Amino acid sequence: MKNKDIKKIIKDVCQVSPDIKTELKDGCVVLSGELDDWQTIYEAGAAAASKRYLGVINNVRLKGKSDGIPVPDFFDEAAEGLKPDVLVIGGGIVGAACARELKKYNLDVLLTEKSYDVATGASGRNDGCVHVGIDLHKGQQKLIYNGRGNAMYDGLCKDLDVALEKKGHMILFKSNAEGRFFSALMKLRAKQNGIPGVKYLPREEALKIETGLPSWCSGVLYMPIGGIVSPYKLTVALAENAAQNGAKILLNTTVLGMKTENGKIVSVKTNRGTIYPKVVINAAGIYADKIAEFADDRTFTIHPRKGTNLILDKKRFDYAVTSITKSPFTKLKNNLGGAESMLASATSKSHTKGGGIVRTIDGNVLVGPNAREIFEREDYATDNADIDEIINKQKATAEKLTRGDVITYFSGTRAATYEEDFVVRKGIRTKNIIETAGIQSPGITAAPAIAEDAAKWAAEMLKAGKNPSFDGIRRGVPHLAQMDAMERDALIKKNPDYGIIVCRCEEISKGEILDALRSPLPAAGTVDGIKRRVRPGMGRCQGGFCMPLVVKIIADELGIPEAEVTKAGRGSLLLYGDKNAEGVN
Ligand SMILES: Cc1cc2nc3c(=O)[nH]c(=O)nc-3n(C[C@H](O)[C@H](O)[C@H](O)COP(=O)(O)OP(=O)(O)OC[C@H]3O[C@@H](n4cnc5c(N)ncnc54)[C@H](O)[C@@H]3O)c2cc1C
Repeated sequence: MKNKDIKKIIKDVCQVSPDIKTELKDGCVVLSGELDDWQTIYEAGAAAASKRYLGVINNVRLKGKSDGIPVPDFFDEAAEGLKPDVLVIGGGIVGAACARELKKYNLDVLLTEKSYDVATGASGRNDGCVHVGIDLHKGQQKLIYNGRGNAMYDGLCKDLDVALEKKGHMILFKSNAEGRFFSALMKLRAKQNGIPGVKYLPREEALKIETGLPSWCSGVLYMPIGGIVSPYKLTVALAENAAQNGAKILLNTTVLGMKTENGKIVSVKTNRGTIYPKVVINAAGIYADKIAEFADDRTFTIHPRKGTNLILDKKRFDYAVTSITKSPFTKLKNNLGGAESMLASATSKSHTKGGGIVRTIDGNVLVGPNAREIFEREDYATDNADIDEIINKQKATAEKLTRGDVITYFSGTRAATYEEDFVVRKGIRTKNIIETAGIQSPGITAAPAIAEDAAKWAAEMLKAGKNPSFDGIRRGVPHLAQMDAMERDALIKKNPDYGIIVCRCEEISKGEILDALRSPLPAAGTVDGIKRRVRPGMGRCQGGFCMPLVVKIIADELGIPEAEVTKAGRGSLLLYGDKNAEGVN
């Protein structure tokens, strides 16, 4: 980011559009006006970013559109009058990790999530890479939190019974000379960023670690601390462990406003009543700037950056390391693309990292993501142009890749600020708020460390001591498909429901689904909630065979008609039944 003064910023923004007014207010660069083109509004925001000021507040409106927090379709009193010590807004990985960390102190904790489950925003829509941080720069909060977060992962995943693999990330080069040159530069960066073990490996050495290298690759930069995790399973585990330790988690609860007095939040309005917290942690992801605005503490703007990923059939591709990506400097005949890689973002203005080819913790292969600036904050649609773009780029790395290998796609939106950094800080104008905003990639990696600081600050504000009864250990639902015959046999003898296979593609049993429904944060009784926890419907047939069985198991367990079971919360009924039914949750 440049170090421009306000005069230069006014000139630069004016060049993007003369219809935008630019001014300096309370240490922030504020843009206002109205345009009919989102790309221009985005470019104006990017032109206004400067190290010199707190951040860009881009209030330029897109004609005829509103980008406020969606107002829910129901209101009740479930949260009315609650007085938690700390209110965490948002049930993504950051909010869930904050709730768990806060329970290490003697604090009464409430987490509100607007959706029907945790991990439905960016935390359920990403690659799950535990990043190395080779692309990050000195002075960025991202660098500090990525390094600390990566180092916390082994212990955290062990405590929470969440699978983690650290088998390294690779960047591929075509010629040895190119590989050695750029690897030398990257090794210097690794040293500055405190990343251990980074080395250049010629092809024959690299093949001992990863047999799936493309034919043109003559060497790789190998970064052994890179890993992979299921980001939504980890988010669920963090939330469950927070709940086990007494945190209250209210789903379907949207924060719609706040009342502040004398530089303090006094109350928070939701669709389920007014809450009176002593401290608020803003972990609202894509809406974090709206929450900061409610609290009179806004110094940044979130502009959504969409990324699409393709999921490949696990039978066709097999990788040992968890992320491989073609160096952007490697030019190949008929394919000048290549992943917008870790190295690309280390050396250019690319706004995506990792990706390329990613082997998930469950053995599927992800291809992508790309990066596109969009207006709608929760636009998760996938379109043909993105899919073609990704396949064309990634064929260089996965040489046998065809469209027929793709079993499904998904998109997520990154909560980027114009400064392209995290905003993790105590309130500037409001005393009792902690911002954890702008958490785009590497937010999965960084979340445990961000939460550690946020919880410590909240405890300091409230002078709270340590909670001696905090229990950080959580046991997940057993995963039959990963057990050997003896283990399966023992489990089925103990619980015969584990002998009834519901999802044949992923070998998921009825026992796993029932245990997910009975867990401390009970899957909200939805088909997608169950899928996020134990994976029925994640395989080749995408639920074609097992979904009716899953619906029946949920209905029987909750004691409701099958027609009331939803796919993903209110308004997403799967079966025709009572036309007035809205579905549970
Ligand atoms: C395509 C893609 C790939 C990525 N790959 C990686 C990767 O490989 N590794 C990595 O480290 N990072 C990756 N990231 C980044 C990572 O996903 C995010 O940084 C991380 O998930 C952010 O977590 P969060 O909790 O801040 O936000 P979210 O998960 O979005 O959670 C915020 C929550 O707040 C809720 N909320 C919002 N407004 C309100 C309100 N008013 N009231 C109540 N609740 C509200 C939302 O519903 C949401 O659930 C990727 C991101 C994308 C999009």
